Amino acid sequence: MKTLTKAKPERGIWLQQQPVPECGHNDIKVKISKTAICGTDMHIYHWDEWSQKTIPLGMHVGHEFVGTVVEIGIEVRGIEIGQRVSGEGHITCGHCRNCRAGRRHLCNNTVGVGVNRDGAFAEYLVIPASNAFPIPDDISDDLAAIFDPYGNAVHTALSFDLTGEDVLITGAGPIGIMAVAICKHVGARHVVITDVNEYRLELARKMGATRAINVANESLEDAMKDIGMVEGFDVGLEMSGNGRAFEQMLASMNHGGKISLLGIPSADTVIDWNMVIFKGLIIKGIYGREMYETWYKMAAMIQSGLDLTPIITHHFNIDDFQQGFDVMASGQSGKVILDWN
Ligand code: NAD
Ligand code: ZN
Repeated sequence: MKTLTKAKPERGIWLQQQPVPECGHNDIKVKISKTAICGTDMHIYHWDEWSQKTIPLGMHVGHEFVGTVVEIGIEVRGIEIGQRVSGEGHITCGHCRNCRAGRRHLCNNTVGVGVNRDGAFAEYLVIPASNAFPIPDDISDDLAAIFDPYGNAVHTALSFDLTGEDVLITGAGPIGIMAVAICKHVGARHVVITDVNEYRLELARKMGATRAINVANESLEDAMKDIGMVEGFDVGLEMSGNGRAFEQMLASMNHGGKISLLGIPSADTVIDWNMVIFKGLIIKGIYGREMYETWYKMAAMIQSGLDLTPIITHHFNIDDFQQGFDVMASGQSGKVILDWN
């Protein structure tokens, strides 16, 4: 079968033939129809320091997918051949305290599809059946293919009550932009997003941001005054991984504000802890998606009218994968879909 494999210890990714994986007793085999390129795939593509430490050479990558179940293991119940599924890329152990308490997103032994084991950039993917999420008929393949990052946005955004609240999102990457639409959908008042990339800020405006601020040449404070905010943001969603963005968020929060941290800052990031303490802020780290509460909310919000379609900006056939990685690397894209059919 065709795969996109990290074949060499250098920048790039390679289309290769690999054997079709075996389906174990508790697994399903999915024929992949569409995949999307994640920021993580770009780290692996660029072969940065993290990838060099983490990614086994010869592995095929990818974890954002939709496809059809073509085989099920003999122990599998509740999933049928022919069903359209996406799925959770975090494979959890099932025996640690958190798993046993139903908090699988906090598993101590999480293994990542397309990070620690073969991924979804392939004609066939085998995952545990319990990782599959059946896709309702009224949700398109394109949207189902981006459920993984959409789930990051939902998990981060819905960690705190948003109804009637003013929300600051730092970082208008695909996840930050999706978070804009989610916050508006569930009833936030003002949703302000920051970035330094004009293309992405424009997408965020399309998704309903009250203001999309380019912090390289605009003042967040002025924008807040302009929309009549006097006391600061109630909720902050950090989705850039940039230390200065986080610092700016801390400075712009109301006392008692709540912050979800999704972006992964570099190890040398320094913040002013006095802001956290004297403002009485609550900060929560976010990893992955809740299994499977986040997934049910994702499907339900699309069915109740949340429109994420503007975030998908590019489609390529798998044979033209290089163009997909090039446009992702340029920063001039939202989500990029690779079509395997
Ligand atoms: P991305 O890299 O596409 O987006 C980050 C954005 O932040 C970029 O558009 C960048 O221009 C912007 N940015 C840079 N400096 C900024 C500044 N000073 N102020 C505001 N914005 C600034 O990433 P993504 O795929 O949308 O993911 C968002 C973040 O979440 C990344 O840091 C990613 O590593 C992280 N992530 C975490 C998890 C998790 O489970 N915790 C999962 C997925 C992604
Ligand atoms: Zn576990």
